[in-house]
Amino acid sequence: MAYVALYRQWRPQDFDALVGQDHIRTTLKNAINSGRIGHAYLFSGPRGTGKTSTAKILAKALNCVEGPTSQPCNQCSCCERITAGNSMDVFEIDAASNRGIDEIRDLRETIKFAPVDGRYKIYIIDEVHMLTTEAFNALLKTLEEPPAHVVFILATTEPHKIPATIHSRCQRYDFHRIEAGEIKKRLAEVVNRNQLKVDPEALQLIAAHADGGMRDALSILDQCAALDTEHVTADKVCNLLGLIGHEWVWRLAGALAKRDSAETLLILDELINMGQDVRQVLLELAKHGRSLMLFKVLPAGSSVMEMYSEDQTVLAEQSAQFTHQELVDMIRSLHEACNEAKWSPEPRITAEMALLSICRRVAAADWEALIARVNALENSLASGSMPTVSVPVQRKYSEEQPPALVQPSVRQPSAPKPVVQEIKPVAEMKTASSGMAKPVFTGPAKEEAGKIWAAILKELLADGKRSVHACISQGEILQLDEHQAIVGFAAKFSKERSEREDFRAIIEKVMAHVCGRPVRLQCVLGNSETSLPPAAEHVEKTNRAEIAAPKTEKAAAVSVEHPAVREALQMFGGKIIKE
Ligand SMILES: [Zn+2]
Repeated sequence: MAYVALYRQWRPQDFDALVGQDHIRTTLKNAINSGRIGHAYLFSGPRGTGKTSTAKILAKALNCVEGPTSQPCNQCSCCERITAGNSMDVFEIDAASNRGIDEIRDLRETIKFAPVDGRYKIYIIDEVHMLTTEAFNALLKTLEEPPAHVVFILATTEPHKIPATIHSRCQRYDFHRIEAGEIKKRLAEVVNRNQLKVDPEALQLIAAHADGGMRDALSILDQCAALDTEHVTADKVCNLLGLIGHEWVWRLAGALAKRDSAETLLILDELINMGQDVRQVLLELAKHGRSLMLFKVLPAGSSVMEMYSEDQTVLAEQSAQFTHQELVDMIRSLHEACNEAKWSPEPRITAEMALLSICRRVAAADWEALIARVNALENSLASGSMPTVSVPVQRKYSEEQPPALVQPSVRQPSAPKPVVQEIKPVAEMKTASSGMAKPVFTGPAKEEAGKIWAAILKELLADGKRSVHACISQGEILQLDEHQAIVGFAAKFSKERSEREDFRAIIEKVMAHVCGRPVRLQCVLGNSETSLPPAAEHVEKTNRAEIAAPKTEKAAAVSVEHPAVREALQMFGGKIIKE
């Protein structure tokens, strides 16, 4: 005998065998028992949740020789014929392939004849949302006044596409996605009865992957069993479904938690070498991120909400290594990268960039401390008590060391001296005339920093990074120490463009080369405006025009083809506006 697919072998034959649709089972059974049988039903819900099966059970319940009964016998000729799909009274119509008005007209012709051997003529219209508007209108007339011996069962995965006029003439039943736990239970039963050898972890994977659909779950199980008649393991299921698998995703998340960029990239490399799909890696990592996020909020969540990872030990350990915000940011970046990878010619690069930025964002845990320091600096500047930007840090560092202002890292004896060495009295300030402390260097420190900065700018040009140079050179070096260079910008645009990942990477590379150590670029808004009139002018200009290029007026006149214009457009991401 030909092999019958598992999902057909295990199609529920009575209401009690329906999995995960208790609400529908109860209502339908009550309706039949009390003799309140509707003339039109609308079954809606995701695919594989039992709509067609329920329709057939309902047909049997109505036409069984014992019936109408909520427990069809499945033995009589009526029941058997309905199960086999050759009953003369039950019509299964696939609206996806019979969607026109002619099919509905034919249907209207046949419904007036009495049933052949049952009590009712039952019309099951699958995927009913596919009908054309004319077909719906034709159907509507029939639904309004059907003969007493006719029952319509409309099934759809997209109930919103069904006209309200049809809706209002049907009893609607919403089928739910079946919980992974219930699917797993049912799969275990099937495995047991069919004497298959399948690991519980493999069943768990299949249940999770079926996404609430029992038919999908059974089909996957079928495939797995066909692939390996001996023993189905979690690994084999992963292989078949192209899943990355928990172990790998946990390793990857572990590397991200440790902020270990190198390990992260190596794991990704290994996965890609194994032939895994980059998007699948990102997707499963995002799902695991969701598990961590949910676990952090609701440790008992794994039993309430379906989660990708359910290993409590892993969840507890890894969720403790991230903050809420980091998890939210991580999931967002992964989703963005996943979308981007769809169109990217090199999805691998997209994935690598996303993972690195997550490592880096996580690494920026000191970020808040840094912001606190900058805020403290700004406050002291505003109060006019500190003559230079670096002074509060330097002085506090050497004398009082209050926690908020202390440089976090240990200074090595061989490390270069900080550029700013001494406190300048307020009277010496270059911009004293403005009555406000300015975040600029004074004396030799300024000169030295200026020289280094000039060298950095020069190297950028020498490297051919003209767009980057044009942007960063709008800024002014405010502080340069062992770890970071703070650059102040008058214009928001130049600041934001300079600190974006692509430009930042180039700038930091050159800074590291010139300074002989890694130096982090920190861009801030605002520099000594009054002492730098050209910059102030620039602010005005950029504020006025949409395009932030310094030569806006001319740009409009120049051909877009001109290399300089093209470069400007690339740099600023703007468009030419004619004035
Ligand atoms: Zn029967």
